[in-house]
Amino acid sequence: MKKEFWFIVGSQDLYGEEVLRTVATRAQEMATELSKALPYPLVYKVTAMSNSQITDVIREANYDDSCYGIITWCHTFSPSKMWINGLEGLQKPYCHFATQYNLEIPNEEIDMDFMNLNQAAHGDREHGFIAARLRMPRKIIAGYWKDSEVQKRIAKWMRVCIGVRASKTMRVMRFGDNMREVAVTEGDKVETQIKLGWQVNTWATGDLVKEMSKVSEKEIDELFATYKAKYDIATDNIQAIRYQAREEIAMKRMMDKNGCRAFSNTFQDLYGMEQLPGLASQHLMAQGYGYGGEGDWKVSAMTAIIKAMGENENGSSGFMEDYTYHLVKGKEYSLGAHMLEVCPSLAANKPRIETHHLGIGMNEKDPARLVFDGKAGKAIVASLIDMGGRMRLIVQDIEAVKPIMDMPNLPVAKVMWRAMPDLTTGVECWITAGGAHHTTLSYDVDAEMLRDWARIMDIEFVHIDKDTTVEGLEKELMINDLVWKLR
Ligand code: MN
Repeated sequence: MKKEFWFIVGSQDLYGEEVLRTVATRAQEMATELSKALPYPLVYKVTAMSNSQITDVIREANYDDSCYGIITWCHTFSPSKMWINGLEGLQKPYCHFATQYNLEIPNEEIDMDFMNLNQAAHGDREHGFIAARLRMPRKIIAGYWKDSEVQKRIAKWMRVCIGVRASKTMRVMRFGDNMREVAVTEGDKVETQIKLGWQVNTWATGDLVKEMSKVSEKEIDELFATYKAKYDIATDNIQAIRYQAREEIAMKRMMDKNGCRAFSNTFQDLYGMEQLPGLASQHLMAQGYGYGGEGDWKVSAMTAIIKAMGENENGSSGFMEDYTYHLVKGKEYSLGAHMLEVCPSLAANKPRIETHHLGIGMNEKDPARLVFDGKAGKAIVASLIDMGGRMRLIVQDIEAVKPIMDMPNLPVAKVMWRAMPDLTTGVECWITAGGAHHTTLSYDVDAEMLRDWARIMDIEFVHIDKDTTVEGLEKELMINDLVWKLR
């Protein structure tokens, strides 16, 4: 299905036909030019001059599945009472692009005719007021429309809208329940569906085992060939790899049949399975599916959504867990990994398929898994928690590094990073906010995008960055608590 964004330009009927024709021609030109620089087409819809025109185009936007969001701009002045009825009913993400057709004020040319035509500076203020008055969630981007930095910001907002749709259509397949006694991976699924749209349901592990028994040797041969093409096989235990292929094919088949884009499982419920899915879960994540260990459906769905917000709707993002620290002064790092399931989209090198004993859980046989080091570079970790009555999304900026040691006996994929503002303050902030041990780590979705996403989904957002202090964060959380209780 096509994905597009609608460009709605505000005006009124006081300017005469010539001005309005110029506005429409320029709006079309801008939409065409911008579409070349953006990941999705921006379609010019209308130069709106009345309440009924605005209400009509917004109703159309709500009902058209191909419309992922609207972008508004006022070349001329557009009285905002005309927008109230339309905006009140808007159900799509909304970006107010405060731009201007011309780059410069033309010294010689400028006269009152020019001023009448080019009045975005006050037109966009009138337009902004009504959205503020209506307390609407919106993204405001100001700047010249041909500026590549401005275009990048619009591109990022478009990706956020892809994440909004991914959320509203999210279905999560749970194999088994949450790990016994764990708190942070729990949550109110009904509230989550109301707020975020997720359908989170359980399928029996026995049904998966039954589906696995139906997978043919030929199908396994084909997936094995794919593994071989993408990864280095560093084990003689081919049967273990083939067993993971069987698990992957069966899980994918069940998810696709049920429209699920994310799944969770738990090592405490592997009834009838020989191995915890390792390579299988990793290769499913590589294809854009979300995953959460120990029944963590929240991190699983967030991983699928954040991946969808990345490059080509399957970005460099994956399920992660804070494992252990390096606390040497001046060289403080977190080491992130999981029992098996780290997404190869995070890899700096070609992943190796290895088999090792896994002591935890009920693994009868050594599970195959991908082993690699994570990339260096700026990234974020994100955790969605249920505060009771509301969801809180916590995002921390991190700087991933090439692991500072080999760790030759660590049989899993790993990522090493420095959390902002520094490791120990960052840990204090994270724990203060209640962030989970499970996160989604992303190299191509940043905090601004997740802040935009949280605003649209109407959930609390907390950002830990280079300037965050524990004292400042405590105050912010205290105020947030009050605000969210009043809503
Ligand atoms: Mn875990």
